[in-house]
Amino acid sequence: MTVQDVLDEIRKRPGTGEVIPIIDPATEGQLTEFTDCGPEAVDQAVARAKETAESGVWSGMADYERARVLWRIADLIDENADILAELESVNAGIPPAQAQIITKVGSEWFRYYAGWCTKIDGIARDVNTGGLTGIESHQHVYTLREPYGIVGLIFPWNGPVFNFCAKLAPSLAAGCSSVVKPAEETPLSALVLDRILAEAGVPEGVVNLLLGYGHTAGAAITAHPDVEKVAFTGSTEVGREIVHASASSNLNKITLELGGKSPVLIFEDADLDMAIPMASFGTFIHSGQACVCGSRIFAQRSVYDRVVEGIANMANSMQLGGPKEQGAMIGPLISQKQLNRVLGYLDQGKADGVELVTGGYRLDRKGYFVHPTVVTNVDPDSSRLFQEEIFGPVVTILPFDDDDEAVALANNSTYGLAATAWTRDLGRAHRVAKRLKAGTVGLNCQMQFDHSMPFGGYKQSGWGYESGKAGIETYLQTKIVWAQM
Ligand code: NAD
Repeated sequence: MTVQDVLDEIRKRPGTGEVIPIIDPATEGQLTEFTDCGPEAVDQAVARAKETAESGVWSGMADYERARVLWRIADLIDENADILAELESVNAGIPPAQAQIITKVGSEWFRYYAGWCTKIDGIARDVNTGGLTGIESHQHVYTLREPYGIVGLIFPWNGPVFNFCAKLAPSLAAGCSSVVKPAEETPLSALVLDRILAEAGVPEGVVNLLLGYGHTAGAAITAHPDVEKVAFTGSTEVGREIVHASASSNLNKITLELGGKSPVLIFEDADLDMAIPMASFGTFIHSGQACVCGSRIFAQRSVYDRVVEGIANMANSMQLGGPKEQGAMIGPLISQKQLNRVLGYLDQGKADGVELVTGGYRLDRKGYFVHPTVVTNVDPDSSRLFQEEIFGPVVTILPFDDDDEAVALANNSTYGLAATAWTRDLGRAHRVAKRLKAGTVGLNCQMQFDHSMPFGGYKQSGWGYESGKAGIETYLQTKIVWAQM
């Protein structure tokens, strides 16, 4: 299968809605187009998923057999790594070496959750409820962990293979049937992954791929009365809409992995030779389009000038370019819409009188490239640049004097996805980690992630957790069975 095959295949998919162009963000050229599946397709997909949930063709399969299917999916992802990485590059503008890594991470999601298929269990107790009434009454009580019948899986464009695997692996391990909607900007790799699921032995109708806009296909999934759970990754604004949809339809359960504005604290005793490049990488990688990017850096006053200069130098040294351009380390923003959003924030900052140390402009070439941008002299209480998620290669740097001020500045945000502290003082590192209001804290490391550990956001960065044991729990509900003895 080649990229061209996928571009042709998506064009032929049936749909009843608008025609949606797919744009190469590095060249602004149209790659292909597809038709929004439309609301009837959502109804049909949910009906197919419901049939499989009721028949138990997947949830009732022997656990070890389900595990083998997941393991086969992982192997097939590895076998198709080149085409998946190529699609990731072409569609999302990700440099080839990084796209290869993302694909590898994708297959490991399935291997990790293959192991969970045989380890889903509840608790059991013998209970004497007679203690309170004085009448002896003995029961054997146990819990069953049961999959949600139909889950809606919706995710963004910033890592299409990663996002697909992060949702499908645990939901399949749990035994759920699903309807799946990738972002309208980046649906290409989902076609290959969908084919891989079938080839690996996922029965027809268990996973149902839907392609379309968020306000059409996505909204129809979240409001569907038969969808019992929605697992969503995306912006906080859309997360809120999903909560409204649940409240006004069937109160379906929701897991939300949302936006961030993650702080990075650099103390004066930090190893600056490590902290400066890592903080730069952690903010500009993927043009700042990763949810955990450290977009607010705070440096202790005595090292502030060195940190600003060091990050600006790194920003100026990072080579931007499309996936076909030799040596490019950072790709483009995903779309014209995202470009306008980032430039809008920069214009607003300039009007507010912030200082642009470097960057602040679009590159004079084809493609949605913005020069990595370092901003200082920002008012943390009023600046939108400081407060709002830009999701672009823009970082603010502010000074602080002591631990209390550093923590207060870091926590001055409605988001709480991730945070980092760079310091050689072990006691301070752990004290600060405890005080930071974030779902993930890195101490002398940044952007760390592993399948085996939970991931989720504090404050308006999310509800619930994905990954690790918590990730499988996301797709399970608990039934408590009381048996009179
Ligand atoms: P988005 O919220 O606009 O879209 C995400 C997905 O939701 C897309 O598939 C979209 O089509 C769909 N959608 C849009 N409106 C919808 C609606 N009304 N109902 C149902 N679905 C709808 O986000 P985006 O711009 O694609 O992605 C960027 C955002 O994702 C950033 O805020 C980023 O921080 C966040 N993100 C979070 C994590 C995390 O794990 N916390 C990971 C990656 C990205």
